[in-house]
Amino acid sequence: MFDFTWTEEHKAVFKLVQDFGKKEVLPFIRERDRKEQFDPTILEKLGEADILGICIPSKYGGAGLDYISLGIACQELEYADTSLRVILSVHIGLTSLAYLTWGSEAQKQKYLVPQAKGEKIGSFGLTEPNAGSDVVGIQATADKKDGYYVLNGEKMWISLADVADNFLCVAWTDRKKRDKRDHTGLSAFIVERKFKGVKTGTIHGKLGVRAGNTGYVSLSDVEVPLENMLGQEGEGFKIAMFCLDQGRYTVAAGATGLTKACLDASVNYSKTRKTFNTFIGEHQLVKEMIAFMVSGFEASQLLWIRAGWLKNQGLSNSKETALAKWFACDAAEKAASDAVQVFGSYGFSDEYPVERFYRNSKGSSIYEGTREIQKLLQADYALGYKVDKGTRIPLPKYQPGS
Ligand SMILES: Cc1cc2nc3c(=O)[nH]c(=O)nc-3n(C[C@H](O)[C@H](O)[C@H](O)COP(=O)(O)OP(=O)(O)OC[C@H]3O[C@@H](n4cnc5c(N)ncnc54)[C@H](O)[C@@H]3O)c2cc1C
Repeated sequence: MFDFTWTEEHKAVFKLVQDFGKKEVLPFIRERDRKEQFDPTILEKLGEADILGICIPSKYGGAGLDYISLGIACQELEYADTSLRVILSVHIGLTSLAYLTWGSEAQKQKYLVPQAKGEKIGSFGLTEPNAGSDVVGIQATADKKDGYYVLNGEKMWISLADVADNFLCVAWTDRKKRDKRDHTGLSAFIVERKFKGVKTGTIHGKLGVRAGNTGYVSLSDVEVPLENMLGQEGEGFKIAMFCLDQGRYTVAAGATGLTKACLDASVNYSKTRKTFNTFIGEHQLVKEMIAFMVSGFEASQLLWIRAGWLKNQGLSNSKETALAKWFACDAAEKAASDAVQVFGSYGFSDEYPVERFYRNSKGSSIYEGTREIQKLLQADYALGYKVDKGTRIPLPKYQPGS
């Protein structure tokens, strides 16, 4: 059965997050973006609104809603600004859902519950200065000693680096396997900011997501307790890919919201600006740009909702999620470029939001698997070179009332 109606719960999430964006983000975002200023109070406000644990079961401190609700929250947050959606991507997509799925009961109590309640913020450390797409090219190491692992390495381009309380970091527990590029030598660890040897910093001069925090996490002889390993030794690569399955979903839904923001801004402007004695919305070439925004928005939304539906059912969704991410990010980049075009010179200035949309749209074709990596994935699925075998522990299906 196909049912495209939103439940009352979905409509309520949409309204809650839309109102949040209107009240807490839109009046301030131009200044924050100009000043490259991350507003830490936004985390408290997101927590108070129950958004930081939206799809985490209530027994672990979350709101207990489904994965479609997570997508709606991402879409509507990015409608206001990409930096808001990035918070959900790393905090829920890349970490909380990994703790929910792979964490021991003790790890869930210690790390998931405070994250779901918004008391602690999570981030994800995979990328390094010399390796992003090439995950097995990372160099960070985790050497086992008596009662702990010693982590060393540099994590780069990490969202919320200077803000998060905990980082899910991937490192080599088997150096021989690192030399052979065998991913079964990688493991995943929950690293607390307060552990000795953890240093972070912020990257300035970014093209986009300027109201967000992005930086580096340096690990120097960091002693991480054995019980902070997520999953088993050697499962780091699989856990990282699992995290990306959830993170890409949030990026796809967010990019859809960005396309809608471009569409709404362009429609409004086209009905007020006149050239050649008529509103620019009357010109066919302007209509074409708006039409592409409509098709981009609608198709992107269908793709991420399909991925969310599969997640709700506990079904395999890596291929569908990656396709949604690729398509929605491409659509958002085109919509943002066209929105600047519709605004003419005014689109070139931050008097209007479309230049921010344009700069923000670029990042999503890079992070959580570049456009090229997504294309390769889809071709490999089609050619039969890649088949989803599932993970030892799948994402829990949505249990209403849980
Ligand atoms: C704003 C922002 C936030 C981020 N947040 C995080 C975070 O929270 N945590 C984290 O771990 N990382 C994060 N990243 C890092 C991001 O995930 C990586 O930048 C991304 O995976 C690409 O890696 P790279 O930059 O090393 O590019 P590279 O891997 O060096 O790629 C360079 C170019 O080569 C292409 N390329 C690479 N390999 C192939 C191939 N096999 N075939 C064809 N083309 C190829 C790529 O598509 C790209 O165009 C963030 C990045 C940004 C910009």
